[in-house]
Amino acid sequence: MDFEFTDEQKQLRKEVRQFLEKEIAPIADERDAKGALSRQELVGYIKMLMPFGYYNGMMPEEFGGKGYSNTTMAMLIEELSRVWSGLSAAIWIASTLNGMVAALPVFRKKYLERVMAGELISCGAITEPDAGSNAAAMRTTIVRKGDHWVLNGNKTWISDGSVADVLNVLAIADPGDGTMGSAMAIVERATTPFEHRELHKIGWRAFPTAELFFKDCRVPDDHVLSGTISSGGDGRSRTAYEAMMADFEKARSTMAVLGVGVCQAAVDATIDYVKKREQFGRPIGGFQMIQEMVADMIMDTDAARFLTYRAWQRIDEGKRARLESSIAKAYACEAAVRVASRAVEIHGAMGIDENHSIHRYLRDARSLPIPDGTTQIQKLVIGREALGIRAFHQE
Ligand SMILES: Cc1cc2nc3c(=O)[nH]c(=O)nc-3n(C[C@H](O)[C@H](O)[C@H](O)COP(=O)(O)OP(=O)(O)OC[C@H]3O[C@@H](n4cnc5c(N)ncnc54)[C@H](O)[C@@H]3O)c2cc1C
Repeated sequence: MDFEFTDEQKQLRKEVRQFLEKEIAPIADERDAKGALSRQELVGYIKMLMPFGYYNGMMPEEFGGKGYSNTTMAMLIEELSRVWSGLSAAIWIASTLNGMVAALPVFRKKYLERVMAGELISCGAITEPDAGSNAAAMRTTIVRKGDHWVLNGNKTWISDGSVADVLNVLAIADPGDGTMGSAMAIVERATTPFEHRELHKIGWRAFPTAELFFKDCRVPDDHVLSGTISSGGDGRSRTAYEAMMADFEKARSTMAVLGVGVCQAAVDATIDYVKKREQFGRPIGGFQMIQEMVADMIMDTDAARFLTYRAWQRIDEGKRARLESSIAKAYACEAAVRVASRAVEIHGAMGIDENHSIHRYLRDARSLPIPDGTTQIQKLVIGREALGIRAFHQE
């Protein structure tokens, strides 16, 4: 197995890191502390970073994109996460519907220009107040009424939900058929207005997260994908629910790579600090117990990175990565919590100083194990793949 980046990828990483260190790192702490980004701010950051391939770099070259692989995009997400993981997550989520825009003529006609200009913020809404880990328990409904559909229900913890222009909302179209009767409603905020409430988190403060309230929302017929749809990159037909579950392989691998970025941020800051900070007449990096903690952080970061890029490599090869993405997500997101926590410990009081990035790494890391299936859910997926026994019925 070869996980070496190509020379082109290495060059891109070098250039993007230089830019992020200069333009983003100095503002990350202060802006993140102020809370959710506005739509205008998010679009501003997208436009600033688009020349490197953020947001729409995976769009095909024929549409003006860079045709980047998933692995190249993951590398970019890792680099931005290393300086400001909340922004990295917000920009990644904003591109949720870009693949659909490229693939489906109806959406290409409507949205391609805005995607290529960095001006279409999208997101995906599955979770509901009473349907978290058990997404199949969702109650949001979508009912056909003549030439349109009517959407009713609440979605919660929706990333970029307060700023998105277009949302992919999972709903039940045929209640008698459970998730087999599911549909994706592509809801355009401008033409299908709905209420929302911003949710505030201990970490990822600038990353918008909202509860959404759909009450008799009218959705045009060509914005509802029901029955079976082709998705997952393998040409298989799936229900809307199954298609969103298949997409979890990418979503989980993205959470993993965000975790790798946080790990690397904590490692880099710690190495720098232990060489400079002196106690008992010598740099604390000279103490064996400090070196042991630094070594543990590096081992965790390396393992997280290898597991994560293994998953991305399989996805780029067009293979299923159910097991690999769950392993990567569980490991890398928990590693981020462990590594960031060690960084706080090694920084002493400085580690909890609000004017220092270290505490942000830990607060941000704490969010990572939750979305796209908690660590417990990933372990149940791993268990099912290993044992052939389902501990829960969802996928
Ligand atoms: C920052 C953030 C962003 C998010 N973004 C989105 C988004 O964009 N779109 C979206 O649809 N959702 C999003 N979510 C929601 C997320 O997917 C859910 O929070 C997650 O699936 C867990 O659901 P829950 O919070 O309701 O926890 P619960 O499901 O209530 O779980 C509570 C605890 O019980 C455990 N548990 C549950 N079931 C089992 C089981 N069978 N075995 C063992 N343990 C179990 C869990 O692991 C957890 O520890 C986001 C959440 C966060 C925090």
